[in-house]
Amino acid sequence: MLEVRDLRVEFHTRDGVVGAVNGVSYAVDAGETLAVLGESGSGKSVSAQAVMGILDIPPGRVTGGEIRFAGRDLLTLGPEERRRIRGEQMAMIFQDALSALNPVLPVGYQLAEMFRVHRGATRKEARENAVELMERVRIPAARQRAGDYPHQFSGGMRQRIMIAMALALSPELIIADEPTTALDVTVQAQVMDLLAELQREYRMGLILITHDLGVVADVADRIAVMYAGRIVEHAPVHELYAAPAHPYTKGLLDSVPRLDRAGRDGGGELPVIRGLPPSLLAIPPGCPFHPRCPLAQPVCRAERPPLYDVSEGRTSACHLWRECIGER
Ligand code: SF4
Repeated sequence: MLEVRDLRVEFHTRDGVVGAVNGVSYAVDAGETLAVLGESGSGKSVSAQAVMGILDIPPGRVTGGEIRFAGRDLLTLGPEERRRIRGEQMAMIFQDALSALNPVLPVGYQLAEMFRVHRGATRKEARENAVELMERVRIPAARQRAGDYPHQFSGGMRQRIMIAMALALSPELIIADEPTTALDVTVQAQVMDLLAELQREYRMGLILITHDLGVVADVADRIAVMYAGRIVEHAPVHELYAAPAHPYTKGLLDSVPRLDRAGRDGGGELPVIRGLPPSLLAIPPGCPFHPRCPLAQPVCRAERPPLYDVSEGRTSACHLWRECIGER
């Protein structure tokens, strides 16, 4: 359904040209969940904004690649056509529902507008559709609460309303950008479960952007790990968790607190990935991860690793991916 090929995005800043996305490729099928994982500045949100067509241009600019959706390259379409696809076939769920919703309009009205503008529904029909959607995302007393404003809902309930907005026009693809980051842990799990359930039911493709490995384990089919604007590992979720084929992925997995591991080493320190992600204005030569990598060799400083095929449907941008898998 969606195929992104060799996508490149730059930002022109006063300090120079920032290569935010440097040749990213992935695909998402109907009913499938791809998690895009990475630290801040890894390019995960920027690549999603390019897919949605909501990149700030300028300073951003797509400098290369293709974004094929339902057989068409979105980068060749005009703004009007992209807006139509964005409204009806793709939808986005943002991290901060409070700033994504209009604060001065009741949530029921905002939902109903989607049906009035895009489906030509009457006021009464649109209002009913809005209440149905609010029930669908399990807002208690939905009919009464349709007249409430965004600030009258809790964070978790607001995020449910964002999900309802995204589902309103039955899109084929939803991009959820850190949809649970601002929520308490227990509410996070409820919202993710709801999103996963609706995604299965509606057979939508879902791109889940996150920095949290805990969120993706139960809901994703595949994971693309990004670092310095590239995908460094791409794998089915269970294979990646069982044996990461890139030291960066391994570092991320090792730095997740685990009760069993704390017991084994007597509750010692949590492993961390030393150093910081590179500035995108000055990406290190060779492998961009080499200054932080515990396995780095001279070849890593000299040659940028290509995407090696690890197994079917699995790639790693590491010269030493075999050693990395063997370590676990
Ligand atoms: Fe580490 Fe070298 Fe692999 Fe880069 S290519 S991740 S530096 S081992």
